[in-house]
Amino acid sequence: MIVCKFGGSSVADSAQIEKVKNIIKSDERRRAIVVSAPGKRNKEDEKITDLLYKANSEVQKGLSCKETFSIIEKRYLEIAASLKLDKKALSLELDIIRRNIDSGYGADYAASRGEYLSAFLISQYLNFEFVDTQSCIVINQDGTVNPYSYEQIGRIVDSNSDKGYVFPGFYGSTEDGSIKTFTRGGSDITGSVVARSVNAELYENWTDVSGFLSADPRIVEGAKTIDSLSYNEVRELSDYGASVFHEEAIAPLMDTSIPINIKNTNRPEDKGTLITREVKDASLAGVSAKGGLSRIRLRKLMLFKKHGMRHALLTMLHIFGVRPSFSLYGIDSIVWFFDSKMATDSVLSAMCERLKNEFSLDEITVDRGHAILGVVGSSVMSDDSFIKASEALKKESIDVTFLNYGASDLSYAFGIKEEDKERAVKTIYEALF
Ligand code: ASP
Repeated sequence: MIVCKFGGSSVADSAQIEKVKNIIKSDERRRAIVVSAPGKRNKEDEKITDLLYKANSEVQKGLSCKETFSIIEKRYLEIAASLKLDKKALSLELDIIRRNIDSGYGADYAASRGEYLSAFLISQYLNFEFVDTQSCIVINQDGTVNPYSYEQIGRIVDSNSDKGYVFPGFYGSTEDGSIKTFTRGGSDITGSVVARSVNAELYENWTDVSGFLSADPRIVEGAKTIDSLSYNEVRELSDYGASVFHEEAIAPLMDTSIPINIKNTNRPEDKGTLITREVKDASLAGVSAKGGLSRIRLRKLMLFKKHGMRHALLTMLHIFGVRPSFSLYGIDSIVWFFDSKMATDSVLSAMCERLKNEFSLDEITVDRGHAILGVVGSSVMSDDSFIKASEALKKESIDVTFLNYGASDLSYAFGIKEEDKERAVKTIYEALF
């Protein structure tokens, strides 16, 4: 059986959903389908999931979500009308959802309804069974998938028949049964969960690009498609900002050998990128950069003489909601980088004040506007790309704020200023690819 996940742009309107049907009908092994909520139809358009979050926050603020919800309603009704589906049943569902959002069911419930309605319509259109993931995927408190989910889906899907199934992506339930979503873009994770549960021969992830590219095409014109990647290379590329496949979606497949094929719904004939457990092509895979980081720098003479100091400092950071993603340690200093969204300026200044007093620091400063650029590929530790990349950055006068070399055998990274991000990606691409 082939599991197919279709992203938001692949189900954005009835014309896209027709393409989905053609893809499904062209191979009878494509029997388990995971769908996202309708995404943007053009640059100015709004994603259904964003509108659902908006409707929920309006209700939380005591405002009416009527106007926002009517945009959502219109989108689904239009899709149902053009696909000649039962509009009455859809209207009933929409009524229930609006009432529930209005009565404060919360953000997870509201956001999940985008995928729910998508699967509700597409299952009718394909004449496949609708399987509500609220009753079969359990998401642990830390956002990981509870293994019980695999057994549950395995029981529902009949591998020996020719029956088809449609699963809404992005959500499941907590252990006590209430709806919980994955993080944004999480339908990729649902696809992996279903693929693992049915022991799929292939997991096809259908999107609007023909696979992973060796650099962001908005930055590097003509960046090449990567033919093959390993599970671990995908995790690293996604972590450095490549947004084709959710970085947590590899986890459910990690101890399987199920291949993943990233495919383009608008160009189904393109081969896309094949992702396998083991490395197939030992070369450089890609360069990617992610911005939106802030930096904390602190100094204290004899900092590490005091046992447990690092741990105590980190605990204090966590209390203020700051969880660093990169750290550097010097004899009398520490530098941490973290996602800027984790704390406002006022939270950060309160945090610095507290750290300074409580740990008698000599100095502590915070600044924003940092980025990290990663070069990924199974050859990075054996080729001379690191030297070439460093020289290229120097030649372009791009300052490096930190280095991460040796933490993984599949990648290395440079800390750079956010304003240099695009220039740095271009420079590294030209030097190495
Ligand atoms: N609809 C959700 C989002 O926009 C999940 C997904 O598309 O995978 O994040």
